[in-house]
Amino acid sequence: MRFPLKTTLKIASHIIKHKLLRTPRFALVLQLEPLHTCNLACTGCGRVREYSTNINHRMTLDACLDAANQCDAPMVSICGGEPLIYPEIELLVEGLLAQKRIVYICTNGILLRHKLKEYMASIYSSEMESLIKNLFSENLISEEDAVTIRKGNNKPVIRPNEWTYWNIHLDSTERTHDLIVEREGVFREAVSGIRLAKALGFQVATNTTVYRQTDMNDLEHLLEYLSWIGVDGHTISPGYDYDAAKIDMAKRLGKNPEEFYLSRKQTREKFKDFQRWSKKFSIFGTAVYQEFLVGKRELSCTAWAIPTVTPKGWRSPCYMLADTHYPTYKELLEKTDWNKYGVTTTEIRDPRCSNCMVHCGFDPSGALGVDGKFGDNWKNFKLNFSPRPPRCKEGANVNPFNGVSAGNEHLTGKNNSQ
Ligand code: SF4
Ligand code: SF4
Repeated sequence: MRFPLKTTLKIASHIIKHKLLRTPRFALVLQLEPLHTCNLACTGCGRVREYSTNINHRMTLDACLDAANQCDAPMVSICGGEPLIYPEIELLVEGLLAQKRIVYICTNGILLRHKLKEYMASIYSSEMESLIKNLFSENLISEEDAVTIRKGNNKPVIRPNEWTYWNIHLDSTERTHDLIVEREGVFREAVSGIRLAKALGFQVATNTTVYRQTDMNDLEHLLEYLSWIGVDGHTISPGYDYDAAKIDMAKRLGKNPEEFYLSRKQTREKFKDFQRWSKKFSIFGTAVYQEFLVGKRELSCTAWAIPTVTPKGWRSPCYMLADTHYPTYKELLEKTDWNKYGVTTTEIRDPRCSNCMVHCGFDPSGALGVDGKFGDNWKNFKLNFSPRPPRCKEGANVNPFNGVSAGNEHLTGKNNSQ
């Protein structure tokens, strides 16, 4: 199975409950952005330009937990900004787990090993010495780290469990990824974090945005490598020229957004092999959304199923567009004129939506049976319940370190030690 049985049943029972109650709109996933401070400023990221990145401008822990209760989504994706900068991230994860939610912690990976080492220190005993030796020999921890781990700690930490995933942002192999995040060394650190997390028994996923320049062969090789090192699943979504990202690209980088982002036609060209990939890799998302991406069907957007909350309030209408923010989830649902936004199978309601095919707008449509066709439920069920694709052997021969690690820098002028 791509998703563990308990996780799948939790989401399925939430959908069935609301279908029986005939709830017109309900949340499947909450995008929780507790802060917009980040240790990167990636090309195309609207968030760190659209909102204040001051560390003091953040949601309180109580406000985060209340937001999750308000919308009651079974799954919460903690994003931002960089959530590992959030001072109460451990307590936030613990609080969401106590609410019995599935928790995704989205991170660029820079601070991941730091958090994992804190976890190791919290459970340290002499029985861990052989693990420490192995991790040291694989360059995943240093001698200095080992000394700190042996001292132990009583801090709150994030622990491996069946309801939590680390979700690491990786857009491509090293050279391209570091160019997109505008800092060399980030890819290498993120991959070390993934390997350490897997060695410690965590569930790990990756998320990738495909841009116009993305070399899909390169991305396929990256997925082969990630499968080989044990990553549990991948979310892959087409890049879309939403307002904030577009403005940043034009103003700061002097680039034409059209050279970077994908039109619908270009998305379908890029994703033409996606269903083959789905057999080879553990790609998350419904079979129906995959058919939409490859151009076999149209779908209407269901942005309301994945609401986004930020320190400024609930983004309306969606993760991409923010025409306004509402103080409560109830107001977001009731005051947003949903008929004004999105794309249906027959019309483009808002010209800004015309090229949007993003995961958070359309994957829920596949799960909720919007524009459903006979056999859709079976397709979705089969994709999720069939065995997870086996570890990809080709990955053993892939070397994704084709950038700064191979002396092939691109002179962003920045590196990960800065
Ligand atoms: S790591 Fe994420 S939040 Fe930070 S700049 Fe990059 S895309 Fe934006
Ligand atoms: S199509 Fe939906 S998810 Fe995409 S920008 Fe429009 S409202 Fe948002």
